[in-house]
Amino acid sequence: MADIDIPAITLNDGTPFAELGLGTYKLTGEEGIAAIEAGIRTGYRVLDTAVNYGNEREVGEAVRRATEGGVDREEIIVTTKIPGRHHGYDEAIASGRESSATLGLGRIDLLLIHWPNPSVDKYVDTFRGMIALRDEGLVRSVGVSNFTRPMLERLIDETGVVPSVNQIELHPYFPQAEMRAFHAEHGIRTESWSPLARRSELLTEPLIRDLAAAYQVSPTQVVLRWHVQLGATAIPKSADPDRQRENADVFGFMLDDDHVEAISALERGRLFDADPDTHEEF
Ligand code: NAP
Repeated sequence: MADIDIPAITLNDGTPFAELGLGTYKLTGEEGIAAIEAGIRTGYRVLDTAVNYGNEREVGEAVRRATEGGVDREEIIVTTKIPGRHHGYDEAIASGRESSATLGLGRIDLLLIHWPNPSVDKYVDTFRGMIALRDEGLVRSVGVSNFTRPMLERLIDETGVVPSVNQIELHPYFPQAEMRAFHAEHGIRTESWSPLARRSELLTEPLIRDLAAAYQVSPTQVVLRWHVQLGATAIPKSADPDRQRENADVFGFMLDDDHVEAISALERGRLFDADPDTHEEF
């Protein structure tokens, strides 16, 4: 049914996930629906949205159209996120219900806390509300985004639940070695946001271009294969079906370990000031 077979994986709570997914930020309206549906047909199964992207309706509609076209709904993992303004136990429950209604798909496959917003100090209660939604079956898996190690430790200590996923900024300019090691130790799947560093100058870095030539792939494919080999689920966003296909087609070659290390050595820091200890979003 799909053009490209993106390998499936299992999260720490036994729910399905994949080695690569599709970002949907800015994919809105009828064009957005068409782009997301094209992504599903290409083979993307993990779809990443959020209340704050304003496109849950579009994501839900794309899934409906794809499933009417023969894709199995059970294979698709729709991820959405609770915004900062909905933090708190009751608020998280209401937010999850609202997202479910907007998506129009019934169950939410993976629900994340979008940003921890430490000055508000409600992320533990928010997570408890999400666990309640999971227990009643509206949500299949609960995770977080932009959590630091101390925040994860506190969440696990106070709720006894290890999030299935932590979606963090991760790309060759910000490879997050310490967070990945902590995730691996605790069975938390790393998910990489802005995996292409929002395109920026990353794709014209001499190292990336040289490796692309050596492996006879595109610069984007070098970067996305690097994520795969780090064990992180990248969620590149593309509105274009050809670029979506290019981005998904990274399972037919393997980078040498020293090339993976060389790419990680491009490290220079975050794309913008999105330090979760200080950056808050509502
Ligand atoms: P990204 O995926 O790193 O880069 C997207 C940009 O790269 C777009 O301009 C896209 O343009 C271009 N692009 C994609 N494939 C390409 C290719 N093969 N060749 C050349 N250019 C290509 O950045 P992102 O959208 O910021 O991050 C991805 C997803 O992560 C988002 O959509 C969102 O779902 C999630 N995210 C989460 C958080 C969070 O706080 N949790 C924060 C940021 C992002 P075209 O569309 O024209 O192809």
